[in-house]
Amino acid sequence: NRQYILESRPTGPATENNLVLKTSTLASPKQGEVLLRTIYLSLDPYMRGRMSDAESYADPVEVGDVMVGATVCQVEQSEHPDYKVGEWVLAYTGWQEYAISNTEGLMKLGESPDTPSYALGILGMPGFTAYMGLLDIGEPKAGETVVVAAATGPVGATVGQIAKLKGCKVVGIAGGSQKCKHAIENLGFDACIDHKADNFEEQLKDACDQGIDVYYENVGGHVLDAVLPLLNTKARIPLCGLVSQYNATELPPGPDRLSMLMGLILRKRIKVQGFIIFDDYSDRYGEFAQDMQQWLNDGKIKYKEHLETDFENTLNAFNAMLNGENFGKTVVQVQQP
Ligand code: NDP
Repeated sequence: NRQYILESRPTGPATENNLVLKTSTLASPKQGEVLLRTIYLSLDPYMRGRMSDAESYADPVEVGDVMVGATVCQVEQSEHPDYKVGEWVLAYTGWQEYAISNTEGLMKLGESPDTPSYALGILGMPGFTAYMGLLDIGEPKAGETVVVAAATGPVGATVGQIAKLKGCKVVGIAGGSQKCKHAIENLGFDACIDHKADNFEEQLKDACDQGIDVYYENVGGHVLDAVLPLLNTKARIPLCGLVSQYNATELPPGPDRLSMLMGLILRKRIKVQGFIIFDDYSDRYGEFAQDMQQWLNDGKIKYKEHLETDFENTLNAFNAMLNGENFGKTVVQVQQP
């Protein structure tokens, strides 16, 4: 059983010295347990936080343990009456080829689901995050302008498409012209601005000619700097993530803008609310799943995956995702179904 073990905590981007691919002997499931074979592993930005022991909303992975992560698996061996060999489950078995589970927390996906990996993206945690953050905290109204960065990733792409369904004007922010083209042509955004362009701030200002009513915050950094002056009175900011900081080893360059930010929030009466999806909204998963399945069935929401097919390249794929070298939801195909 090949497993990625957290051997040491990274400073900056994780390296092969921090996450080491090791082989262990596979145990057999006992009564009441199942042996799961990992087919898909989700790679998500939050994992960088789990590698670190800095204070967070969740405990870090212990040094010496398998790196955590959501997976879609098939039951390989079953000693549990409710689970049949071959059936698919959503699990949380981490960066490894096989795992034994007592079935707690498994979600059944059926015997031959059409798109099993969607449970890691559009129909799973990232889709749910987009849905709740936008609708419950962002409260978008028809005609308003919604801005979202990381616009072609699983959260951002979903935020923008739901906002379009709610009748908003949607301006995406993404890294590079190919991603921006995709956001406009395939996802239906009204505009998408390349945050690496020299005149990014100016282009964003032109695209948001009525100001910004909802800024769905995924990234922080220079994107947030460009957004702040464009916020309208009573704007809402669902504070979902700050991916530009996850690999940071030092504070951002000065001057300190905190008091300016607080002044802006006060004068414009801006609502900023952080949220952690399963801590805050687990009771509303059913509502999301129903709406999203319907939108997918009706062709109203599009979804793009970035599939890594070499398990030995998992760490590179993870770092690439944090750097914006992914194009769509990053998923590793660990083994063939
Ligand atoms: P993505 O697959 O979109 O990957 C992250 C993207 O961030 C990159 O592809 C890149 O896109 C962009 N990015 C990276 N660095 C920068 C930078 N310096 N400036 C601007 N953009 C940058 O990720 P997800 O959709 O999975 O996650 C999006 C956000 O949602 C993350 O912050 C994540 O932590 C957060 N999240 C929060 C949850 C919660 O419960 N609060 C739950 C799930 C996710 P590009 O090339 O377009 O710049």
